[in-house]
Amino acid sequence: MLDLLRKLTLLESPSLEKAPADRCCGFLADQWLLRGGIINILKQKHRGNHLRVLWPPTTTRPAGQLLVLGHYDTVYPTGTLAKMPFRISGGKAFGPGTFDMKAGIVQALFAFEALRELKLPARKNLVFLWTSDEEIGSESSHSLIEAEAKRSDAVFVLEPSLGPRGLLKTSRKAVGQAELTICGRASHAGLAPEKGINAIHELAAQIARIERWNSPRRGVTINANIIEGGTRTNVIADCAKATLDLRAWRFTDMRALESRLRSLKPIHRGATLEITGGFDRPPLERKHSAALFSRAKSLAMQFNLTLGEAAAGGGSDGNFTAALGIPTLDGLGAVGDGAHSTHEHILVKTMPHRAALLAALLATT
Ligand SMILES: [Zn+2]
Repeated sequence: MLDLLRKLTLLESPSLEKAPADRCCGFLADQWLLRGGIINILKQKHRGNHLRVLWPPTTTRPAGQLLVLGHYDTVYPTGTLAKMPFRISGGKAFGPGTFDMKAGIVQALFAFEALRELKLPARKNLVFLWTSDEEIGSESSHSLIEAEAKRSDAVFVLEPSLGPRGLLKTSRKAVGQAELTICGRASHAGLAPEKGINAIHELAAQIARIERWNSPRRGVTINANIIEGGTRTNVIADCAKATLDLRAWRFTDMRALESRLRSLKPIHRGATLEITGGFDRPPLERKHSAALFSRAKSLAMQFNLTLGEAAAGGGSDGNFTAALGIPTLDGLGAVGDGAHSTHEHILVKTMPHRAALLAALLATT
């Protein structure tokens, strides 16, 4: 497992660099092919190719489909390995993308191999989908993920687990991004201040209004995290823009926040405002993961593992599949820490257990 993880990590696969991402995808395709999977490389024009692997059941008429979902892209640009090499130390394997989520892919590959070698009588089609653009919003894979999910009875997401105990993620927040653009009117700040409409003042007033929509109790957050505007000190600013991060646990809160944003009205006379964007990942609500989680928990108990669950403030592609009403269990991947940071790593000794858990889920769901 470690050897494969090392090879996979050395094939850097940033979401924004097609050529290296494609090489990583090709390597993965070979690994599945080697183990008897039927592979299908879904060519992309701008992003890395997506990989779909099918393992048909031994029976002639499949009784459904199970989807194993993940992404092989990372947030690290090519060359990161020079500063952040793959290394194993103190029971941990470090390197860009190890935790999020290349170790998860390795675990899935070994789960697949275990099922095949044990010759378990699989009743359902198994589909493994490895995409190339999750870290940048899944624009090129979104419809593919949804199409596969709709054909599936359950979706297992190999995203990293949470914390040293490897908690599964049974709910995730809806995540979105909106741009609030204000137009005012430029004027000389000294000679004709009365003729100006200050877009920055308008934006500041809007942000003060929006800030009050945060509800820690319901887990609704809205944050202006990027702002820009203005040209010179002595020119009344005619343009300003804020980029807002939006999050909510509940579908209803997501919709409410969107409609509040769309109904914003200017505060300063003469200013205009425009809202674009919105939520792009709906929430993964626990009702779509609870049954799978209790199955996973009892399977884990059979090999002396205690399995816990957690809620995650960030989204994944599991948000898309759960929103379709397909049972979805997320965070089945690696145990480790430091996703998207210089100390990203996984706990080596947990890899076989997690692979076994996935194999058991695939054999019994
Ligand atoms: Zn991820």
